[in-house]
Amino acid sequence: MNIEIKNAYALVDGHIDRHDLYIEKDIITGVDRKPDGFTGEKTIDGQDRLVIPGLINAHTHSYMAMLRNIADDMPFMDWLTKGVYPVEDRMTGEDAYWGAMLAIAEMIRCGTTTFNDMQMHIHNTTRAVKESGMRAVISRGLVGEKYDRDDVRIKEALEEISDGEGTNGRLTFMLGPHAPYSAGFDYLRGVADIAKERGLGIHIHLAESQTEIDNLKKEQGLTAIEYADKAGCFEVPCIAAHCVKITKSDMELMAKKNVSVVTNPASNMKLGNGFAPVPEMMDAGINVCLGTDGAASNNTLNMFHEMSLLTLIHKGTHNTPVCINANEALAMATVNGAKALGLEKLGEIKEGYKADLAILDINTPSMVPKNNLLSSLVYSANGSEVDTTIVDGEILMEGRELKTIDLEKIIYEVNARMERLNP
Ligand SMILES: [Zn+2]
Repeated sequence: MNIEIKNAYALVDGHIDRHDLYIEKDIITGVDRKPDGFTGEKTIDGQDRLVIPGLINAHTHSYMAMLRNIADDMPFMDWLTKGVYPVEDRMTGEDAYWGAMLAIAEMIRCGTTTFNDMQMHIHNTTRAVKESGMRAVISRGLVGEKYDRDDVRIKEALEEISDGEGTNGRLTFMLGPHAPYSAGFDYLRGVADIAKERGLGIHIHLAESQTEIDNLKKEQGLTAIEYADKAGCFEVPCIAAHCVKITKSDMELMAKKNVSVVTNPASNMKLGNGFAPVPEMMDAGINVCLGTDGAASNNTLNMFHEMSLLTLIHKGTHNTPVCINANEALAMATVNGAKALGLEKLGEIKEGYKADLAILDINTPSMVPKNNLLSSLVYSANGSEVDTTIVDGEILMEGRELKTIDLEKIIYEVNARMERLNP
């Protein structure tokens, strides 16, 4: 559909001003310049609207939306073994599909247009992505020799990739070795070799907790970053989640190997893992992007909440209010995520870029007055201001009404399924 957004505030080149935007099919073809021969099929009045690039949630596990609020305020191992695992073990592929649909509904309503997902049940998240119209990068979580006898999960991951690749322009894939402590060295090296052979990127959890670091040091004499590097994970485009417990030389290594880091401030705090050295990683030249992690460890998938946390915790822990400004937080939630996921011409409002946009109603208390709309996006918005969400030129939500998915049915299915899954 060709869409004209008239006289709206829009975030262009790091500044918010009034602009006219023109979308033809899936591409932004004009910023303040009507393309030759443009015929609009729909006009959006931008008078009380602020248009931003759609937010990119660079690390989550969408199926885990089923596990929201299931295990809170408890030690990490209890959270995992008494809260998450018993339900996860009983989940079927169909349960995972409804979890992914719930996650997608929540993300669309908060202006997220792309998510990077590590999942457990093949075909189900991809089905939810295709039906909803979201953009996503999918990786099958891969755990080591001990659990993945005969490499069944690797075979599943590759099967899903060959089934899904090229079938939908909004869907791409990576390989997802879960973490150094769950993958094992030879397994991890095997996955990295396949990624290299097939031209795939790697999505992995690294250096999330002190226990992971202590065990690796004891058993291998390496940091988590050195371990992943030795296994070959950095020979391909790599996006590493967390990177909380890292050293200066880890940062230098990641910068040299062009590894992108996705920081997940809420998850790291909730699970008592601390604070990733984000300002230091930025200084080292690392591409840092932002994610929510799964709903069991957050417990929302709201990138506005995450942007606010990101800037506030680092101002607090570094004892300075000039640490990570609003523009940098927005970049981490948009264009840096696109770069980390290898998605070209995405994450900015520019001619020739993908029409993935979130349109906020600025006539709402958290956005008033218009003293600094850029600041309002990071420090006062909460996601409920998002009125319209567009992915690939397709309107997925308008007037806060979801257009491609049936929210009432999702809520019914998830609640009914959790009655069965709850211990
Ligand atoms: Zn995770």
